[in-house]
Amino acid sequence: MKVRVLHHESLPPATLGQLLSRLPAPFQIHRKEPWQFPDHVGFDPYRQQSNALELLRTLPTPGQGEAVLGLVGIDLYLPSLTFVFGLSLLGQRQGLLSSLRLRPDNGDALLWQRRVLVEAVHELGHAVGLVHCPLASCAMHQSFHPEAVDLKEPAYCPACLSQLSALLGSQGQGAGKLNRN
Ligand SMILES: [Zn+2]
Ligand SMILES: [Zn+2]
Repeated sequence: MKVRVLHHESLPPATLGQLLSRLPAPFQIHRKEPWQFPDHVGFDPYRQQSNALELLRTLPTPGQGEAVLGLVGIDLYLPSLTFVFGLSLLGQRQGLLSSLRLRPDNGDALLWQRRVLVEAVHELGHAVGLVHCPLASCAMHQSFHPEAVDLKEPAYCPACLSQLSALLGSQGQGAGKLNRN
């Protein structure tokens, strides 16, 4: 499936390295372009965070056979949660991810890139209809801390991969459920 990457100016460009070169099949990046939205969209001045769902809604509608992935470097939240790494609408082929909370404490750029890659694989999985996976090494496993992302591979386990093939063969079923993280 073709992936259209939109990167907001808040995203440190260096975090994109592995995402651009190592996205696993069946995904391949075919477009990469800047993403602009007004500063006030989704921004809560009291929380100093942006509402992930409101930002997700500003992403362009995916074209035929395409998924859209929005990348930001700002802090995301949902009203019921302190923060989220990202958000996607199950099966709607739109995903959103922030690099901010994935930054390693020691600033290791390669580790940061890897975390962005793993969570991009995670959000793209949701975007085409995958749910969370119990296998700790699978990209679709749910992570609540950045260190937990390091236990995952930037790839889908065999079970998720076969489900992915089935989903891509029958588009759009079970669409619309909200998936955080
Ligand atoms: Zn899995
Ligand atoms: Zn998730």
